[in-house]
Formats: sequence, structure tokens, C-alpha cells
Amino acid sequence: MSNLVFDSEILNRIVQGRTYKTDYLQAYYDALQNPADIFAAATKLRDEYKGNTITFSKKVFLNVINLCRDTCSYCTYKAQLTQSKLSMMSTDTAKQIIRLAKRYRCVEALLVTGERPEEAYPEAKEWLRGEGYSSTPEYLAHISEICLKGGLFPHTNAGNLERDEIRMLSDTNVSVGLMLESSSERLTGSGMPHHLAPSKRPKERIRVLEDMGREKIPTTTGVLVGIGESIEEYIDSIITIRDIHRRYGHIQEIILQNFHPKNDTAMRNNAAADMTQFMILVALTRIMIPAMNIQIPPNLSPDIYPSYINSGINDWGGISPLTQDYVNPEFSWPHIQDVSQRCSDFGYNLKCRFPVYPEFAQMVSPHLKERMSTIADSEMLVEASYWR
Ligand code: SF4
Repeated sequence: MSNLVFDSEILNRIVQGRTYKTDYLQAYYDALQNPADIFAAATKLRDEYKGNTITFSKKVFLNVINLCRDTCSYCTYKAQLTQSKLSMMSTDTAKQIIRLAKRYRCVEALLVTGERPEEAYPEAKEWLRGEGYSSTPEYLAHISEICLKGGLFPHTNAGNLERDEIRMLSDTNVSVGLMLESSSERLTGSGMPHHLAPSKRPKERIRVLEDMGREKIPTTTGVLVGIGESIEEYIDSIITIRDIHRRYGHIQEIILQNFHPKNDTAMRNNAAADMTQFMILVALTRIMIPAMNIQIPPNLSPDIYPSYINSGINDWGGISPLTQDYVNPEFSWPHIQDVSQRCSDFGYNLKCRFPVYPEFAQMVSPHLKERMSTIADSEMLVEASYWR
């Protein structure tokens, strides 16, 4: 627990762990009037727990299959069979991209799919069978194996997985990803963003996040901010993640993603997340879970992303020199050298991490750690000479 003392009594109560949800709410509303205190507190806590390092992951995005059995009202990633953005990535194509990514000295292979495409699309089932597999997770295990052999470290985000599937993927994946998005049941109601997405029901997501903990695989999760949740519901989402981590100890980072409406979605006329409120929520999250790794994708706030450093973040997530962000295709990645420069403008060093954070590396299989050691520095981050 931090010994830092702040001017605000509520912030002190939160940092000392004597907390009630009403304190979190009060801290948020106080910050709307005077944000300086919460940003200063978040910065100090980040510095205390994370030092002057801000990390990112040099990645390639493998858009394995973007058909999906669900429909989230904000999603532009999901494709229809007739659309030009449809991706059903063959093993050969994956190999080509992996070879190129290795040449660019990427470290992470981010493997992404929609939610169990084969359950909604006979074409997906047929395609998987043609590749020699009966399910998307099986195919992902196969592609992960190729990534490893090609010198990349896989991190799979394939939606809800069964426990045996998590176990299968943990043999090749140093971590997995599953966004909670929101713990709000209300957002699954009629007309709400998760109404047509059974996989996003909070109970389902929590079950899978807990199974990832039972399988002891480092797990990235997060919250999508600005999709109609209340401040109370946002705070509940963070408390939910915090409590899962307290039970299983495997949540390696929280991604806080600010919503942007996409033209081809049902939420195209909704407003983007309010930036001031978002930054306060980021700072509040740091104060609620001071030791957590907190990531903001820099491409979603291209003009102002360096200022998130003052909200207490310590990670920029995956940045690709090679592939686009298929989940947010309208936003290109910043150049890694620019991000590095912006960090040093604020007095911080940008370092490249593996898709598993150093403090979670002991959870990874010895054979994966051995591979990591070939390009790891003494902190279990990626050697600067490799990624720069
Ligand atoms: S966000 Fe994920 S689960 Fe929802 S529609 Fe898109 S791909 Fe499917």
C-alpha cells in the first residue's frame, strides 16, 4: 500500500484502501470541478509503482477471421461474408505476415477473431475444415505455433473460450486477452449495445476471466468507455476486474478504451467518449488499483495521447509498424519513434515489453520463457537493440 499523502481526504481514503463506492463517485465528481488533484495523485502513484518507464508492445495484428456470431452495436470489426473487409486467414497467408513481422522486428503476434464464427456461418465451419480444424480455438493454437516458430510471441483475443481451450492456448500464448467491456447488465437490454451479443453478458465474461485465472494464464482485460454506461457502472466494472484479480492474481493489465462511433454501425450517431471525463476516469482507475498496469491505445486520441501520462497510465499497448488496427481502422498507429520522443518530453522512458508483463512472466511455461530470454533484457523487457 502506498504511503503517499494527498491534499484530498477522499483520495487519501481511497489510496489507503478504506473505500466505499461512494468515495470513488465523490472523487470523480470532485475531479470534474478541479481535475488537478486527481491527475497529480495518479501521476505520483504511477511513478511510485512503475517508475519512469512506459511500455508498449511492438506487434503485428493477425486478423484471423472476422466473422462473428454476435453483434455489438459499436463494432466495425465484424464482417459479413459479402464484404471486402472479410478475413479468413489461411495458414500460408499467416506465414507470410509472420515472416514480414519478424523482419520488422515485431515481438507480439496479436491473434484476433470474432466470437465463434463457425457457430453462425456454415462457410466458416467449412473453411476451418479445409484448413484441417474443427473450431476457431483449435485453428488459433495452430497459428500460434507458427508464430512461435517464426520468432513472435502470440497473444490471442478470440472472445469467450472454454477452459480446455484456454489450457490449449496457454501452451503457445504468453498471455490472452478478453475485454470485460462493461459489467453492466443494463447494457445487454433491448436497444442497448450488447443486446445482440450474448458473449458480452457480464456473467459470461466474468466466468471466462475467472477460468483464465484458474488456468493461471496472464490475462489482459479492459473497459470500453462511453458506450452508454453510467459513472457508477464504470466504477463497478473496475471493481469487478479488481476483485477477479484479487481472487486469481492473473490480470496483468487493464485497457481503457475510449469509444468512437463507427460509420457502419448502429451507434454511428452516438457521441464519442468525452475526453475530460475519460481522463478523469483513467486517473481514478490508477487510484483505485495503484499497482495495476493501465493501458490506453494512443491511436484513439491521436492529438492528445501524451497527456494520458498525466492521468497515470504506464502502457500504450500494441503498436504495429506493419498492420492496421482492424478494430479501429480509421485510426492509424503513431510511429514508435514519435511515441518514444513524447514519453521523453514528459520525463519517461519508452520500453518495449513482451505480450506478458515482466512481473507475470513467472506464470508462463518454461519453454516460452526460454524463447523470450533470447531477446530479453535483465528486466524481462525486450532488449532495446532488438526493437529500436
Ligand atoms: S465486438 Fe467482438 S463480439 Fe462484438 S460483434 Fe465485434 S467481433 Fe463480435
